[in-house]
Amino acid sequence: MLFLLLVALESSFLPSAEADQAKKLPNIVILATGGTIAGAAATGTQAAYTSGAVTIDAMLAAVPGIRDLVNIKGEQISNVGSQDMTIDIMLTRAKRINVLLAQNDIDGVVVTHGTDTMEETAFFLNLVVKSQKPIVLVGSMRPSTAVSADGPLSLFDAIAVAADPSAAGRGVLVVMNDWIHGAHSLTKTSTTAVQTFMSPLRGIVGVSTYGKNDFYNTPQWKHTAESEFDISNITKLPRVDILYAYADMSADLIDASVANGARALLSPESETEI
Ligand code: ASP
Repeated sequence: MLFLLLVALESSFLPSAEADQAKKLPNIVILATGGTIAGAAATGTQAAYTSGAVTIDAMLAAVPGIRDLVNIKGEQISNVGSQDMTIDIMLTRAKRINVLLAQNDIDGVVVTHGTDTMEETAFFLNLVVKSQKPIVLVGSMRPSTAVSADGPLSLFDAIAVAADPSAAGRGVLVVMNDWIHGAHSLTKTSTTAVQTFMSPLRGIVGVSTYGKNDFYNTPQWKHTAESEFDISNITKLPRVDILYAYADMSADLIDASVANGARALLSPESETEI
Protein backbone atom coordinates (compact mmCIF):
# COMPACT_ATOMS: atom_id res chain seq x y z
CA MET A 1 0.00 0.00 0.00
CA LEU A 2 2.78 2.34 1.02
CA PHE A 3 4.63 1.34 -2.16
CA LEU A 4 1.58 2.19 -4.30
CA LEU A 5 1.22 5.51 -2.54
CA LEU A 6 4.88 6.34 -3.19
CA VAL A 7 4.55 5.37 -6.84
CA ALA A 8 1.44 7.53 -7.17
CA LEU A 9 3.17 10.47 -5.49
CA GLU A 10 6.26 10.12 -7.60
CA SER A 11 4.31 9.90 -10.88
CA SER A 12 2.41 13.05 -10.05
CA PHE A 13 5.76 14.91 -9.97
CA LEU A 14 7.09 13.35 -13.16
CA PRO A 15 7.87 15.99 -15.78
CA SER A 16 6.42 15.60 -19.28
CA ALA A 17 8.04 12.97 -21.50
CA GLU A 18 9.58 15.76 -23.56
CA ALA A 19 11.15 17.54 -20.59
CA ASP A 20 12.38 14.19 -19.28
CA GLN A 21 14.02 13.40 -22.61
CA ALA A 22 15.67 16.86 -22.80
CA LYS A 23 17.02 16.35 -19.30
CA LYS A 24 18.76 13.11 -20.19
CA LEU A 25 20.54 14.49 -23.27
CA PRO A 26 24.07 15.84 -22.80
CA ASN A 27 24.26 19.64 -22.53
CA ILE A 28 26.76 21.10 -24.98
CA VAL A 29 27.67 24.75 -25.45
CA ILE A 30 28.97 25.88 -28.84
CA LEU A 31 31.21 28.93 -28.87
CA ALA A 32 31.35 30.33 -32.39
CA THR A 33 34.38 32.41 -33.38
CA GLY A 34 34.19 32.59 -37.20
CA GLY A 35 36.43 31.00 -39.83
CA THR A 36 35.59 29.25 -43.09
CA ILE A 37 33.07 27.02 -41.35
CA ALA A 38 31.07 30.23 -40.95
CA GLY A 39 32.09 31.52 -44.39
CA ALA A 40 29.85 32.34 -47.34
CA ALA A 41 30.55 32.81 -51.05
CA ALA A 42 28.45 34.18 -53.90
CA THR A 43 28.38 30.76 -55.62
CA GLY A 44 28.91 27.15 -54.57
CA THR A 45 32.01 26.61 -56.70
CA GLN A 46 34.27 29.59 -56.11
CA ALA A 47 37.45 29.75 -54.08
CA ALA A 48 36.92 33.30 -52.75
CA TYR A 49 34.57 33.72 -49.83
CA THR A 50 33.95 35.89 -46.80
CA SER A 51 35.13 34.24 -43.59
CA GLY A 52 32.94 34.48 -40.51
CA ALA A 53 29.77 35.59 -42.31
CA VAL A 54 27.36 32.99 -40.91
CA THR A 55 26.04 32.81 -37.35
CA ILE A 56 26.00 29.79 -35.06
CA ASP A 57 22.24 29.33 -35.56
CA ALA A 58 22.65 29.09 -39.33
CA MET A 59 25.54 26.60 -38.92
CA LEU A 60 23.41 24.40 -36.65
CA ALA A 61 20.49 24.58 -39.08
CA ALA A 62 22.74 22.75 -41.59
CA VAL A 63 23.15 19.79 -39.21
CA PRO A 64 19.79 17.98 -39.27
CA GLY A 65 18.77 16.01 -36.20
CA ILE A 66 21.51 17.33 -33.93
CA ARG A 67 19.01 18.68 -31.40
CA ASP A 68 17.61 15.15 -30.94
CA LEU A 69 21.04 14.01 -29.71
CA VAL A 70 22.12 16.86 -27.43
CA ASN A 71 20.80 20.01 -25.80
CA ILE A 72 22.70 22.84 -27.48
CA LYS A 73 23.28 26.42 -26.52
CA GLY A 74 25.24 28.68 -28.86
CA GLU A 75 27.29 31.75 -28.00
CA GLN A 76 28.97 34.01 -30.52
CA ILE A 77 32.40 34.91 -29.07
CA SER A 78 33.69 36.59 -32.25
CA ASN A 79 33.13 36.29 -35.99
CA VAL A 80 36.57 36.60 -37.58
CA GLY A 81 38.76 34.66 -39.96
CA SER A 82 41.28 33.01 -37.66
CA GLN A 83 44.16 34.80 -39.39
CA ASP A 84 42.75 37.78 -37.43
CA MET A 85 42.57 35.93 -34.10
CA THR A 86 43.77 38.11 -31.22
CA ILE A 87 45.16 37.39 -27.76
CA ASP A 88 42.16 39.30 -26.35
CA ILE A 89 39.72 36.87 -28.01
CA MET A 90 41.87 33.92 -26.91
CA LEU A 91 41.83 35.01 -23.28
CA THR A 92 38.12 35.90 -23.27
CA ARG A 93 37.24 32.55 -24.83
CA ALA A 94 39.43 30.52 -22.46
CA LYS A 95 37.96 32.27 -19.41
CA ARG A 96 34.43 31.70 -20.73
CA ILE A 97 35.16 27.99 -21.20
CA ASN A 98 36.45 27.77 -17.64
CA VAL A 99 33.23 29.36 -16.33
CA LEU A 100 31.01 27.10 -18.48
CA LEU A 101 32.76 23.84 -17.67
CA ALA A 102 32.71 24.58 -13.94
CA GLN A 103 28.91 24.29 -14.13
CA ASN A 104 27.48 20.88 -13.22
CA ASP A 105 24.84 21.04 -15.94
CA ILE A 106 27.31 21.49 -18.82
CA ASP A 107 28.92 18.35 -20.25
CA GLY A 108 31.19 19.70 -22.95
CA VAL A 109 32.15 22.64 -25.15
CA VAL A 110 32.60 22.89 -28.92
CA VAL A 111 34.48 25.84 -30.44
CA THR A 112 33.98 26.61 -34.14
CA HIS A 113 37.17 28.16 -35.49
CA GLY A 114 39.13 29.01 -38.62
CA THR A 115 41.85 26.56 -39.54
CA ASP A 116 44.74 29.05 -39.93
CA THR A 117 45.27 29.39 -36.18
CA MET A 118 43.42 26.28 -35.02
CA GLU A 119 46.69 24.78 -33.77
CA GLU A 120 47.50 27.83 -31.66
CA THR A 121 44.04 27.97 -30.09
CA ALA A 122 44.00 24.23 -29.37
CA PHE A 123 47.46 24.33 -27.77
CA PHE A 124 46.64 27.45 -25.73
CA LEU A 125 43.33 26.09 -24.43
CA ASN A 126 45.03 22.81 -23.61
CA LEU A 127 47.32 24.71 -21.23
CA VAL A 128 44.82 27.02 -19.56
CA VAL A 129 41.41 25.34 -19.36
CA LYS A 130 40.87 23.79 -15.93
CA SER A 131 38.54 20.92 -16.66
CA GLN A 132 38.56 17.25 -17.60
CA LYS A 133 35.34 17.66 -19.61
CA PRO A 134 35.57 17.45 -23.41
CA ILE A 135 36.60 20.61 -25.28
CA VAL A 136 36.45 20.16 -29.04
CA LEU A 137 37.52 22.54 -31.80
CA VAL A 138 36.09 22.24 -35.29
CA GLY A 139 36.48 24.11 -38.56
CA SER A 140 36.13 23.48 -42.26
CA MET A 141 38.08 23.96 -45.45
CA ARG A 142 35.08 24.87 -47.60
CA PRO A 143 32.65 27.69 -46.82
CA SER A 144 29.09 26.87 -45.80
CA THR A 145 27.79 27.76 -49.28
CA ALA A 146 30.17 25.44 -51.21
CA VAL A 147 29.15 22.37 -53.16
CA SER A 148 30.09 19.50 -50.78
CA ALA A 149 30.67 21.82 -47.82
CA ASP A 150 32.63 19.87 -45.19
CA GLY A 151 31.54 21.93 -42.18
CA PRO A 152 28.17 20.37 -41.26
CA LEU A 153 29.39 16.76 -40.87
CA SER A 154 32.53 17.83 -39.00
CA LEU A 155 30.34 19.96 -36.71
CA PHE A 156 28.06 16.96 -36.14
CA ASP A 157 31.09 14.78 -35.30
CA ALA A 158 32.58 17.47 -33.04
CA ILE A 159 29.34 17.71 -31.07
CA ALA A 160 29.19 13.91 -30.82
CA VAL A 161 32.76 13.86 -29.44
CA ALA A 162 32.02 16.67 -26.96
CA ALA A 163 28.97 14.72 -25.72
CA ASP A 164 30.93 11.47 -25.34
CA PRO A 165 32.16 10.71 -21.78
CA SER A 166 35.06 8.75 -23.38
CA ALA A 167 36.46 12.06 -24.68
CA ALA A 168 36.94 13.37 -21.13
CA GLY A 169 40.50 13.61 -19.78
CA ARG A 170 42.10 13.61 -23.25
CA GLY A 171 42.72 17.36 -23.30
CA VAL A 172 41.56 19.72 -26.01
CA LEU A 173 40.65 17.87 -29.21
CA VAL A 174 40.25 18.98 -32.82
CA VAL A 175 37.71 17.12 -34.93
CA MET A 176 37.79 17.54 -38.69
CA ASN A 177 37.04 15.28 -41.61
CA ASP A 178 36.39 12.19 -39.42
CA TRP A 179 39.63 12.41 -37.45
CA ILE A 180 40.09 13.33 -33.79
CA HIS A 181 43.42 15.07 -33.11
CA GLY A 182 45.12 15.96 -29.83
CA ALA A 183 46.10 19.60 -29.27
CA HIS A 184 49.82 18.75 -28.94
CA SER A 185 50.18 16.89 -32.20
CA LEU A 186 48.16 18.37 -35.03
CA THR A 187 49.41 20.51 -37.87
CA LYS A 188 47.70 22.04 -40.92
CA THR A 189 49.32 20.67 -44.06
CA SER A 190 47.35 22.19 -46.94
CA THR A 191 45.56 25.48 -47.60
CA THR A 192 42.85 23.80 -49.68
CA ALA A 193 42.59 20.04 -49.04
CA VAL A 194 39.71 18.87 -46.87
CA GLN A 195 42.08 16.38 -45.22
CA THR A 196 44.41 19.16 -44.10
CA PHE A 197 45.04 18.33 -40.43
CA MET A 198 47.56 15.62 -39.68
CA SER A 199 49.19 14.36 -36.50
CA PRO A 200 52.25 12.90 -38.23
CA LEU A 201 54.47 11.78 -35.37
CA ARG A 202 52.19 11.14 -32.43
CA GLY A 203 49.17 9.91 -34.33
CA ILE A 204 45.51 10.78 -34.09
CA VAL A 205 43.49 10.31 -30.90
CA GLY A 206 40.66 8.55 -32.70
CA VAL A 207 38.01 8.75 -35.36
CA SER A 208 34.42 9.91 -35.47
CA THR A 209 32.32 8.38 -38.20
CA TYR A 210 28.90 9.99 -38.50
CA GLY A 211 29.10 10.71 -34.78
CA LYS A 212 30.24 7.19 -33.73
CA ASN A 213 33.52 7.66 -31.91
CA ASP A 214 36.45 5.32 -31.57
CA PHE A 215 39.37 6.44 -29.36
CA TYR A 216 42.86 5.00 -29.90
CA ASN A 217 45.11 7.25 -27.79
CA THR A 218 45.18 9.50 -24.76
CA PRO A 219 47.71 12.33 -25.02
CA GLN A 220 50.27 11.88 -22.23
CA TRP A 221 51.51 15.46 -21.75
CA LYS A 222 50.22 17.56 -18.88
CA HIS A 223 47.10 19.40 -19.97
CA THR A 224 43.93 21.19 -18.82
CA ALA A 225 43.19 20.30 -15.19
CA GLU A 226 46.82 19.22 -14.54
CA SER A 227 48.45 22.18 -16.26
CA GLU A 228 50.15 24.72 -13.97
CA PHE A 229 49.06 27.70 -16.08
CA ASP A 230 46.30 29.87 -14.64
CA ILE A 231 44.88 32.80 -16.60
CA SER A 232 42.20 33.87 -14.14
CA ASN A 233 44.05 37.14 -13.39
CA ILE A 234 45.79 37.57 -16.73
CA THR A 235 44.63 40.28 -19.14
CA LYS A 236 47.69 40.52 -21.42
CA LEU A 237 50.36 38.13 -22.65
CA PRO A 238 53.98 39.09 -23.37
CA ARG A 239 55.07 39.35 -27.01
CA VAL A 240 56.88 36.25 -28.26
CA ASP A 241 58.05 36.26 -31.89
CA ILE A 242 58.69 33.28 -34.14
CA LEU A 243 61.55 33.70 -36.60
CA TYR A 244 62.52 31.18 -39.20
CA ALA A 245 66.26 30.63 -38.86
CA TYR A 246 68.55 29.60 -41.67
CA ALA A 247 72.29 29.16 -42.23
CA ASP A 248 74.23 32.45 -42.19
CA MET A 249 71.14 34.54 -41.48
CA SER A 250 71.68 38.13 -40.47
CA ALA A 251 70.83 39.29 -36.94
CA ASP A 252 68.67 42.17 -38.26
CA LEU A 253 65.34 40.41 -37.78
CA ILE A 254 66.29 39.29 -34.28
CA ASP A 255 67.37 42.84 -33.37
CA ALA A 256 64.10 44.22 -34.79
CA SER A 257 62.03 41.78 -32.73
CA VAL A 258 63.84 42.66 -29.52
CA ALA A 259 63.73 46.40 -30.28
CA ASN A 260 59.95 46.13 -30.80
CA GLY A 261 59.30 44.50 -27.46
CA ALA A 262 59.59 40.74 -27.97
CA ARG A 263 60.26 39.08 -24.60
CA ALA A 264 61.28 35.78 -26.19
CA LEU A 265 62.06 34.41 -29.64
CA LEU A 266 61.31 31.00 -31.04
CA SER A 267 62.78 29.44 -34.12
CA PRO A 268 61.16 26.38 -35.68
CA GLU A 269 63.62 23.82 -37.02
CA SER A 270 62.81 21.38 -39.75
CA GLU A 271 63.76 18.49 -37.43
CA THR A 272 61.45 19.72 -34.67
CA GLU A 273 58.90 17.12 -33.68
CA ILE A 274 55.40 18.21 -34.48
N1 ASP B 1 41.42 31.85 -43.28
C1 ASP B 1 40.45 30.95 -42.73
C2 ASP B 1 40.49 31.05 -41.23
O1 ASP B 1 41.43 30.60 -40.63
C3 ASP B 1 40.74 29.57 -43.18
C4 ASP B 1 39.87 28.51 -42.58
O2 ASP B 1 39.01 28.70 -41.72
O3 ASP B 1 40.05 27.38 -43.01
O4 ASP B 1 39.56 31.57 -40.66
